[in-house]
Amino acid sequence: MAEKECGFAPLVFRLHGGAPQVVREVLLERGWEEYDEEEQEEGDWNLYWRSSGFRNSDYKNILPWQRLNHHPKMTHITRKDCLARHLRRMKCAFGAVLYDFSPAAFILPNDYTKFLGVYTKNRSTDEGKSCFWICKPVGLSRGRGIFLFKDIKDLVYHSSLIIQRYISDPLLISGYKFDLRIYVCIKSFCPLVIYMHQEGLVRFATEKYTLASLDNPYSHLTNTSINKYGLCYAKDKERVGRGCKWTMSKFRCFLHKQDINEHLLWLRISNIVTLTLLRAVPCIPSSPNCLELLGFDILIDASFKPWLLEVNHSPALSLDCPADVAVKKGLINDIIDLMNYRMTDGFRQKGYLRKRYARSGSRYLQPKIPQEFLLPKTLHATPSGKRSRNRSFSTSSSSQHTVLCSVNDCARNSRYASRPAHPNSKPSTSSGHEKAPQKLEEINVEVESDEFTTLNGTRQSLKNTPSSLCKLPSLHKLTTPTVPWNHRTQDRDVPPCRVGDFILTFPFSEATWKASQDQVDVKAILNEVRKLTNRLTSSFNGKKRTKADSGQRCNPVRDKFESLLWGPKDPPLLSECYSSNSETK
Ligand code: ADP
Repeated sequence: MAEKECGFAPLVFRLHGGAPQVVREVLLERGWEEYDEEEQEEGDWNLYWRSSGFRNSDYKNILPWQRLNHHPKMTHITRKDCLARHLRRMKCAFGAVLYDFSPAAFILPNDYTKFLGVYTKNRSTDEGKSCFWICKPVGLSRGRGIFLFKDIKDLVYHSSLIIQRYISDPLLISGYKFDLRIYVCIKSFCPLVIYMHQEGLVRFATEKYTLASLDNPYSHLTNTSINKYGLCYAKDKERVGRGCKWTMSKFRCFLHKQDINEHLLWLRISNIVTLTLLRAVPCIPSSPNCLELLGFDILIDASFKPWLLEVNHSPALSLDCPADVAVKKGLINDIIDLMNYRMTDGFRQKGYLRKRYARSGSRYLQPKIPQEFLLPKTLHATPSGKRSRNRSFSTSSSSQHTVLCSVNDCARNSRYASRPAHPNSKPSTSSGHEKAPQKLEEINVEVESDEFTTLNGTRQSLKNTPSSLCKLPSLHKLTTPTVPWNHRTQDRDVPPCRVGDFILTFPFSEATWKASQDQVDVKAILNEVRKLTNRLTSSFNGKKRTKADSGQRCNPVRDKFESLLWGPKDPPLLSECYSSNSETK
């Protein structure tokens, strides 16, 4: 692969039992190597991927070249009862208008009396329409233990569960119910940075929807884990086809043909994601080098209103059908790109020591590392602009310019060569902080040797250096680790608006960026969400946009952000979606 051909040290991944095979496949394709516990030292890896959460010690001991695929304490939004509780609080604090996207929910046994009150009231005031309820055990997933009821006498439970109002008028395609699996990547919680993947899955029930029988899971539940056992799974179903999944692209084509305004739908879904995650921000400790992939389950009702059903901690990444293959491989590749590895990460401890030197002004790695161990050779730029191999003991900030290009750039050169670039796409070097990739020979110069130079000018071999001296303090033990994962100062940089098929959906403006730094200003953010929704709604409702319109800027509201609208295949800039007469103050 690219790295090996270039003579670079391969990055190393570590999979915990049960981690998806597609992750292994993608990483091996990208030239990574798998961690071997017997052969390699503890810590000699770059990515640790687990389906379940990590231990506290994993977060505490994380090293600068390492990434984990989970943030701590994510159950705050991924457990059904916690999510219901949190959303209820947000609704009370910030109003039902914004937080009206989750069906009313009750956590049993505690909320039984409250539920009884609502149930009784509904029965008497429902104007003849019946209200349906769905019960889900709080600790289970994949549709296990779920049942529906209309009459409270059918409510039987033995463990903690949530009762949710059943969305009984879902949007149907040829009579089949479906929901959307939206892939969301949280690059950091502090500041909050959210990406949503362009591709996702549409998951169908495999029998036609009917309220006449509430106990048919193939008609009411859209979980693949259930429907793949249905009698109709392999049948060619009207419009839906065989199986039970579509890609999001196929769904978009469907919406387009129906003349449905997909922009507004995507904006609403994107709002749901932001508003849900905002609630989690104060609960999640700042953890550099962690990234979270979540699966948001969204149901669209007959009036095109999207509803949040639940948030999945480890969305299924198995490849069961062609739609899975089309979506999930690209998804994993894009996640790895979002992790923003650099060439030095491949050299792990050894490379990092060198890099520390290059950034000797960096405040948070200075303390515990003796200076004399942080001085590798550096490169000087010659007057002709070419780098020489002279060594320097300088600790000036100019030495920062020896920073290497990211591994992603290198991998992408081969992998994405055939992918058309979106006109609005930016290089996925995460912060825009990095320089253009260096030439290969320049990179080799920096990493070719095992030697580094000490302060008094003697060269030492890292191989012979006692490991205790080379051990670096973990990021957590160092001060102010509010960094997403770059070891430099890119935490204050604006994240790129697109990385592969991931679209930055939060922050979406300078104001939201500012409001999400350090202490999150929820009120200010909600205000911005409201303003954006109003602008776009009046813009889309006021004027039917033509193709020519969407290419023109109509008095756009500009700031340094160039946010894209998540959803369409080639998303327009948000600012391009505002029409001049729809500015809302
Ligand atoms: P699980 O974690 O067990 O998959 P979900 O909350 O995702 O639980 O529910 C499983 C399925 O049940 C969903 O994919 C959806 O088809 C259906 N469902 C869940 N909640 C509702 C609801 N409130 N209204 C309508 N359908 C629902």
